[in-house]
Amino acid sequence: TLSLKNVRKSFGGNEVLRGIDLDITTGQMICLIGASGSGKSTLLRCLNLLEPIDDGTITLDGTDISEPGFDPQPVRQRIGMVFQSYNLFPHMTAMDNAMLAPRRIHGHNRAALEPRIAELFTRFGLGDRMQHYPDQLSGGQQQRVAIVRALAMRPEIMLFDEITSALDPELVGEVLDVLRQLRAEGMTMVLATHEMGFARELADTVCFLDQGRILESGPPSQVFGAPQETRTRAFLSRVL
Ligand code: ATP
Ligand code: MG
Repeated sequence: TLSLKNVRKSFGGNEVLRGIDLDITTGQMICLIGASGSGKSTLLRCLNLLEPIDDGTITLDGTDISEPGFDPQPVRQRIGMVFQSYNLFPHMTAMDNAMLAPRRIHGHNRAALEPRIAELFTRFGLGDRMQHYPDQLSGGQQQRVAIVRALAMRPEIMLFDEITSALDPELVGEVLDVLRQLRAEGMTMVLATHEMGFARELADTVCFLDQGRILESGPPSQVFGAPQETRTRAFLSRVL
């Protein structure tokens, strides 16, 4: 379980997270929704220790990982993250992109790693694309390679930040299918997403962020079907 207690984060004088409390339990899928600037990406970046927090605590299975000086590297191996921009290395094949981090961190040799990663590619419909370079792949395929690359580290938790936002509409579905599959396999996931239909279909918990606070959270049937807060209703009426 990844737990946030009263997490606060400012940039300069701008308080972007204003006391976030959230428990991410194993096997759960949590969707973060909210207007641009409400703090979704910042929250995900704090979870992965890409940003230090100013106050509160983040614990992973009871260990406080938010203390200054805590080594972020082992945490980032346990918590994978995928971004809107896939950031694949253009001079490396899909397979080499996916093998880079595990080889660097665990020192595995190619022969030991390759079958396991090939299996991931195959599972996500990329079995015939492993030796392609990023510019030979569609946006949806590149994003799926980015997901495989994160999964290659065998993370326990996956964070996804608007991973379909840069894709042409006809390519969104194939990336959402990967998330569906991970969900079915029991992966613990936190998504910042504008895909409300997807959140409604699959999330265990939907959190509506508003100005750095979780204003409202609950099962999708409640947050989408019977939102309690005026601001949640206003947001949903804009995006649904
Ligand atoms: P979007 O839906 O547009 O992705 P978001 O909910 O992900 O928005 P964040 O990216 O977390 O929002 O940004 C929240 C606020 O924090 C914004 O006001 C943003 O300008 C500010 N912010 C984010 N990162 C930084 C940074 N590195 N330096 C300064 N301000 C930042
Ligand atoms: Mg964002």
